Amino acid sequence: MSTLINMLRAGNLPGRIAGIAATESMVADDLCERITAGTMVAPAGNSGRRVRGVAIGSGVRTKVNANIGASSELNSEPEELAKLDAAVRAGADTVMDLSSGGDTGSLRRALISACDLPFGTVPIYEAASLARQRSGSVVAMTRDDLLGAVEQHAADGVDFMTIHAGLTLSALDHLQSQGRLMDVVSRGGAFMIAWMIHHERENPFYEDFDLLLDIMARWDVTISLGDGLRPGCLADASDRAQFEELVTLGRLAAAANEAGVQAMIEGPGHMPLSDIEANVKMAKKLTGGAPFYVLGPLVTDIAPGYDHITAAIGGAIAGAAGADYLCYVTPAEHLGLPTAAEVHSGVIASRIAAHAADIAKGSHTAMDWDIRMAGARKSLDWEEQIALAIDPQAARSIYGSRHSESVAGCSMCGELCAMKIVSDHLGLKAGEISGC
Ligand code: SF4
Repeated sequence: MSTLINMLRAGNLPGRIAGIAATESMVADDLCERITAGTMVAPAGNSGRRVRGVAIGSGVRTKVNANIGASSELNSEPEELAKLDAAVRAGADTVMDLSSGGDTGSLRRALISACDLPFGTVPIYEAASLARQRSGSVVAMTRDDLLGAVEQHAADGVDFMTIHAGLTLSALDHLQSQGRLMDVVSRGGAFMIAWMIHHERENPFYEDFDLLLDIMARWDVTISLGDGLRPGCLADASDRAQFEELVTLGRLAAAANEAGVQAMIEGPGHMPLSDIEANVKMAKKLTGGAPFYVLGPLVTDIAPGYDHITAAIGGAIAGAAGADYLCYVTPAEHLGLPTAAEVHSGVIASRIAAHAADIAKGSHTAMDWDIRMAGARKSLDWEEQIALAIDPQAARSIYGSRHSESVAGCSMCGELCAMKIVSDHLGLKAGEISGC
């Protein structure tokens, strides 16, 4: 089937790959090699929707995803469209709709038609929600409900989907035998485990992985192999169940690549800061270098209201260790659905983490941004500093609200501005210094 991988293997180069290569300052051939080898993905389904070219994987800028979507408690299409707008304006690279309540199909189509970023979903949420509405329980989902949801999302224009195919009976056995403080915190993982225990059967996404790949290949949808057993608290991190699932995800990623389907791997979760580097390196090793997509990781469990910060700390360390894609976390994590303002805060926090990681990875483009900011600071060029800020609106708001025109510096040191004093004594006026 004419998936991106198969086109590249046949020597055809779609225009969007050349566009991505230019954006990432890479040679297009290098990009093609990485995509065909499975160490990079460029999600874009073939439903006909125009999608911005975004590459995720080794050798390119660390990317940031923003999750939006309604629940059974809060479902407002205008609010979700406002969150989409906030995510795009704040600089998210991709958006995922995690809706599990209300009219999920109608909302998904409205969001997709308003979005030109790669768009992701988790089809099991809709299958479970519909089964609950129909029969009173998520375990009433059928194999056809699951595969049907995947097909419907692909036809609606979804570019990548989280599929919890590595959560097998064997991994479940590890989970039950070792015991965990918080058991399972992944929503999709919880639905699947409930189904497997109730029906005493293997995960249909695992058992029918070939059928799933047929659908993904037909629509050229990228599979994001979900970690249903990701640790949900520090005490549960890096246990047998997590790694059993990861080994399976590595095998499934290889099978997807063989079938011409782009694949990435999802990772933790909550994790002590000291475990992160080893986890990322092990995930890369066990999955053949597939793009690694982490949720956070959150480095402590004790900061509800500030989990965009706990996740950004973990995200920076994970990115520096080789993670390619950071799923943002908002201040509302663990407390409720985020508002549009919280979506903005989450994207900015995650972009800071991704940028810090890119500098650690040796990106000259990333480092050049910091050098330009340092030059603007040294020369007290406030307009340039604001223009270079990752959140210019926030920078202008703080500077503008407390700045006095009579001093060159800001209100922190006022007349005793260190930049100005040192520049004056070095024989240069602050405004004459360019760069540093
Ligand atoms: S006043 Fe102080 S904080 Fe502000 S620019 Fe000058 S040295 Fe920096």
